[in-house]
Amino acid sequence: MSNDDNDSAHSSPTNEDQSFDIDRHIRFLEMNYQLIPSFYEGQEINHLTLAYFIISGLHMLHAIDRVDREAVIDWVLSFQAHPKNEAELNNGQFYGFHGSRSSQFHSLDNEVTVPNNSHLASTYCALAILKTVGYDFSLIDSGSILKTMKHLQQPDGSFMPIHTGAEVDLRFVYCAAVISSLLDNWSGMDKEEAKNYILSCQSYDGGFGLIPGQESHGGATYCAVASLRLMGFMEDDLVFQSTSSSIIDVPLLLDWCLQRQAVDGGFQGRPNKASDTCYAFWIGGVLRMIGANKFIDQTTLREFLLTCQSKYGGFSKFPGQFPDLYHSYYGFTAFSMLQETGLNSLDVELGISSIIL
Ligand SMILES: [Zn+2]
Repeated sequence: MSNDDNDSAHSSPTNEDQSFDIDRHIRFLEMNYQLIPSFYEGQEINHLTLAYFIISGLHMLHAIDRVDREAVIDWVLSFQAHPKNEAELNNGQFYGFHGSRSSQFHSLDNEVTVPNNSHLASTYCALAILKTVGYDFSLIDSGSILKTMKHLQQPDGSFMPIHTGAEVDLRFVYCAAVISSLLDNWSGMDKEEAKNYILSCQSYDGGFGLIPGQESHGGATYCAVASLRLMGFMEDDLVFQSTSSSIIDVPLLLDWCLQRQAVDGGFQGRPNKASDTCYAFWIGGVLRMIGANKFIDQTTLREFLLTCQSKYGGFSKFPGQFPDLYHSYYGFTAFSMLQETGLNSLDVELGISSIIL
């Protein structure tokens, strides 16, 4: 590096070239596919989630041929928790996918209980990766996932992500809805109860909080709207329909989402927060799902996102910072929604590229 170490302003990792640099982004993901940097050591528990950003990202960039499909399938399937027998399906535990190797302890001794840490978010990521690489879902033991996912739904319709001692909120309702949608089987959740929980999270300002009564937030609002869409409770282009028949307050939701586009063109997750790459997906995605995409100022959004594009490939959270996998992935999804040339189209509700089988 030729930059003076004392002059950090000149070592900004932002790409000066104001175009979407697809080749660099592919190289960035490929490097992370081969070896995840030590920076992510603390996130080992979320290994499947990191893999989801990399593999779905490569697919979004039309570069899924960079991964070894069979190796990916074997690796993902190795995280599935299987009950030892039929009776275990009723023991209250969830038999989905573990997030990483360290959360998956194998007992050599039958008398030692094998902890089951399988998690709804890991299960969502596992299925999303398998879908992305074109795995035949009829080969998955979906029965144990769906039968035991039921145990995670709470009396108020919300979901816990794991069978014991965890928080409940809209994120896990969304995971359960994606899992049901990908497996094309809704027997693992009570949709009506889930719908009622989601509706109870819409705030007075039109956005959704993670739990009833909480401040509206971009991520929670995405989870609410995407779940309702996946469950079949919201039609296409809702913003142009007669909104009196809608189960949510659409005009207020539209207003809240549009106010999240800041003067710099980026989206903020909540009022008075700085624009952040990922909300171009979370809130931009909501606007698209309700048919209000055309109200986004796409030119300034694109300009903002390019200030977060790294010269090393990938995107950062804020302009001029180093890239991370999470913001890179949501940067790619945002550019897909902006119809950037060379990117696959996005299935907004599922959070992955549209897969044509
Ligand atoms: Zn973010």
